Amino acid sequence: VGRALVALLLVATTACVAPGEPRWSDSLPRPAYAELDRVPSADNWFEVYRLPHDVYAIYEPHQFQEVISYLILGDERALLFDTGMGLGDIAGVVTGITDRPVTVLNSHGHFDHVGGNAEFETVLALDHAFTREAAHGLPHDVVAGEVAPEALTRPLPEDMDAATWSIRPWDVHGHVDDGTLIDLGGRTVEVLAIPGHTPDSLALLDEAAGLLWTGDTFYEGPIWLFVPETDLDAYERSLQRLVTLAPSLTRLHPAHNTPVAEPSRLSELARAFADVRSGRVTPRPYEPGIDEYGASGFRFLLASDDR
Ligand SMILES: [Zn+2]
Repeated sequence: VGRALVALLLVATTACVAPGEPRWSDSLPRPAYAELDRVPSADNWFEVYRLPHDVYAIYEPHQFQEVISYLILGDERALLFDTGMGLGDIAGVVTGITDRPVTVLNSHGHFDHVGGNAEFETVLALDHAFTREAAHGLPHDVVAGEVAPEALTRPLPEDMDAATWSIRPWDVHGHVDDGTLIDLGGRTVEVLAIPGHTPDSLALLDEAAGLLWTGDTFYEGPIWLFVPETDLDAYERSLQRLVTLAPSLTRLHPAHNTPVAEPSRLSELARAFADVRSGRVTPRPYEPGIDEYGASGFRFLLASDDR
């Protein structure tokens, strides 16, 4: 039910733009990408950027979610943190970067992060009801708005049919929990459970390199906290936990819009969100049932009956 609501809201968000009004794609291409090292991609639905420490950002700039998945290479194995919308051949893109065996882990179960899971043999996940539900996929009618013309800046890949596209079901092959260490060979990443945006939200920490993948808990852009599965108290606690890590970090890798951010953004975000929750920030209507709060340069979208 929650994800169906997300999809319906998305249709509203993308469809109701009058001629002359700003459109989501007006901010593209985002200037931040000009400074990054773009490398060839086996499927041009994706743009691939090589980041420091053997990390590749796999970005989907032609669909309004602008979701970013990350391939993290170890000496023996690779971890794919999220698989995007399932609109292009992300498995082919990954194979074009590495021949090491790939394990998938998702930042959370929302459809825009698990769309390519079905293409991979090994998917790890929390043992959580929300994730199990997400693994059933989503039928076409629930996500049709995601591939409507106004949600795209160019046609879908040739073998994708906008009239039938859906989120394919996927299998979980092993479980992780808060504190699970994933050994990639010469490199270990730690799973952090950071519930809030969803109950199954995860961050990924590479302590040695000082990297933190934040999923949808932090990215540059309006932060979506309006769906029923969002828990604002839990989100606030999870933010505090990430803030305590910030001094030992060198960069953040968020799941939407732009792939690199300063760790100091976490404490700025936590302060801005505390202001929202204190009632000091006046909301403005965003969509029916959703309010937008602007605080210290951040924007938050909350359900109108929530704060
Ligand atoms: Zn999400």
